[in-house]
Amino acid sequence: MLNYDLHSHSTASDGSCKPSELVEIAIKNNVDVLALTDHDTVEGVDEALKTAIGTSVSLIPGVEVSVSWNETTIHILGLGVDPKSKQLNLGLSALREFRKSRAEEIGRLLELAGIPDTYQACVERVNGGLISRTHFAQVIIEKGFAKDIRKVFKKYLVKNKPGYVPGQWADLKEAIDWIKEAGGVAVIAHPARYKLSATKLRKLFEEFKSLGGGGLEVISGSHSDLECIRMADYCRQYDLSASMGSDFHGSFHPWRHLGKLRAMPEDLKTVWQLDSWPCEAIIKK
Ligand code: AMP
Ligand code: MN
Ligand code: MN
Ligand code: MN
Repeated sequence: MLNYDLHSHSTASDGSCKPSELVEIAIKNNVDVLALTDHDTVEGVDEALKTAIGTSVSLIPGVEVSVSWNETTIHILGLGVDPKSKQLNLGLSALREFRKSRAEEIGRLLELAGIPDTYQACVERVNGGLISRTHFAQVIIEKGFAKDIRKVFKKYLVKNKPGYVPGQWADLKEAIDWIKEAGGVAVIAHPARYKLSATKLRKLFEEFKSLGGGGLEVISGSHSDLECIRMADYCRQYDLSASMGSDFHGSFHPWRHLGKLRAMPEDLKTVWQLDSWPCEAIIKK
């Protein structure tokens, strides 16, 4: 089987590597099929595609769309999307607009909590790109208010903490529609990460499936062995396809590695076996 890694981030969102560097790491780590899935943007796809030409890596254009579902933020991957799709880009640009106002508000709240000038520092850091909480985390660490990224999130950036601003992201239906309109397959990213009860998780899978969603990320850099086993079972129960991805962010999440994932259970139907899988043409091997 080819080595698939269908979830990764570049400097176009909150990864530390440029899209070209990401492709180079993929080559080094023997990844055959890499999807670039930045948060709410396809800005990095062009550079990644260009770098991958003539190499051992097949690059799949992707995106990780932020969605608000029953007051929970969830992430929907679009795999094999056309980065030029009008509807997708229109949708994503609205999410990036929300990111701008949210970032200002986070900066204001952190100021009140005694950490000054974080918004301006983020603006300078991203150089015209989008601002995510990962950038705030980096800035807070640099200013000496916390030791590492996990501690920053726990102390400042999650629900009920001083720098938290609730998400106002896309509807689940909207996100799936944009992805499908752009020719892609919609996949629920790291489904075990949302702190949803089993009942709510089932409701999410049912709704996702009925709206035309294609798969679940069973093997994820942020799932434990047990979580992978549970998500594999949900794929079987709901007849959803399985995906796998590291959620690589470079040095910002140093515990995740590109292309080094657990094996996919052999009986599962995978996203790359779907009739609607849009990427066969770009996979060279
Ligand atoms: P945002 O989309 O701007 O709200 O930021 C979400 C991103 O923050 C995720 O994609 C992760 O990269 C990062 N993140 C979220 N929670 C944590 C955490 N507990 N520790 C480290 N990084 C986190
Ligand atoms: Mn991220
Ligand atoms: Mn995510
Ligand atoms: Mn991600």
